[in-house]
Amino acid sequence: MWEKSKELYETARNLMPGGVSSPVRAVKPFPFYTKRAKGSKIYDVDGSEYIDYCMAYGPLILGHGNEKVKNAVKERLEDGWVYGTPIELEIEYAKLITDIYPSIDMVRFTNTGSEATMAALRLARGFTGRKKFIKIEGSFHGAHDSVLVKAGSGATTHGTPNSAGVPEEFVRNTLQAPYNNVEALSEVIEKNREDIAALILEPVMGNASLIIPDDGYLREVRKITMENDVLLIFDEVITGFRLSLGGAQEYFGVEPDITTLGKIAGGGFPIGIVGGRKEILEKFSPSGPVYQAGTFSGNPISLTAGYTTAKILEEERPYDELRRKTENLVSALKDEVHDAKLNVSIGSIESMFCVYFGEKPRDYSSALKLDSRRFMEFYWKLLENGVFFPPSQYETCFMSVAHGREDVEKTAEVIAKCLRAL
Ligand SMILES: *Cc1c(COP(=O)(O)O)cnc(C)c1O
Repeated sequence: MWEKSKELYETARNLMPGGVSSPVRAVKPFPFYTKRAKGSKIYDVDGSEYIDYCMAYGPLILGHGNEKVKNAVKERLEDGWVYGTPIELEIEYAKLITDIYPSIDMVRFTNTGSEATMAALRLARGFTGRKKFIKIEGSFHGAHDSVLVKAGSGATTHGTPNSAGVPEEFVRNTLQAPYNNVEALSEVIEKNREDIAALILEPVMGNASLIIPDDGYLREVRKITMENDVLLIFDEVITGFRLSLGGAQEYFGVEPDITTLGKIAGGGFPIGIVGGRKEILEKFSPSGPVYQAGTFSGNPISLTAGYTTAKILEEERPYDELRRKTENLVSALKDEVHDAKLNVSIGSIESMFCVYFGEKPRDYSSALKLDSRRFMEFYWKLLENGVFFPPSQYETCFMSVAHGREDVEKTAEVIAKCLRAL
């Protein structure tokens, strides 16, 4: 079924570490190689078709190859693709984001989510004049030094949550607290009073399987950070434009001081965005002393795809429909899991969902108890039956606007069949 993919991977392994450009793609014993993708489907080089719930790990809320986004990008390409000068669309997109996100008065465009969180942390430190920050255990904020401590996503999948090559001195100012635990967070703040610039967290954890906040957790986090003069950074690289148009902050009604966006915000092209209050954002160079720069920052293609996607989402508000589709799938699965008496749980929030091999986790340490080996057996069975999930228990599945009713019905059947066959 995967002859050509196997062959390609053999060659790739000698040319790229692990044969890939990003670790989580290195599925054992080999990943499938994609030829093309359209709507809810992805096609491999051996001619197989899969219903895609990996969706490039989050950016494709409209599905693959959306026509409006494609046409907007094509039109933009006619005028050249990178200039090294400002363009009008930066202003339009910045306006749109500040309209949709009331906590954001100003933005800085970067090229990736990693770059955005790196800049957001530097900004928080520059603004407060303090060194330390707190991250949540198992959260993933990209692949830069100071956040590669108990990092989720590929880092956890491949057993390297604390990366080699990051000197202990570089992460001495990175503190950790468990998710969904207000007392532990208060303790860390208490112990490091006066030294903490910020708390960075994924409002919904999407890189250590899917972990949903307890009722009131985020509101408590806002209260504690406010009382202790700690900046609150919401890393909404996944949840922005995903949980609702205005992201997790709109969905849960909690306003952070700084927000990072990415993934959907680039409409399938690389982007990162740091947003927040004017007094904070103005600390960025050149209006302030916190240096941050990029040759491709605010590039016309990413801005066009991102702006077009955000406009479509604003006009069409597909969120009820996305939630309904996800709930249909999830409730079919819950019935199946219940009937088959499997040690499997299902979780979802809006268009994000996850099949857990074990109990639904509430934090990183409970996520680590999930049976990743069985998840991977399940992954391969799904693939044989035409359904593509992200290839790790520590990732989240995404429903898109392009998934139709037949996709969802077929997926429910395939998953039921695969669970029974395990
Ligand atoms: C994907 C992700 C990032 C990193 O974004 P890149 O564009 O891959 O650099 C940061 N934070 C979260 C929460 C993410 O899911």
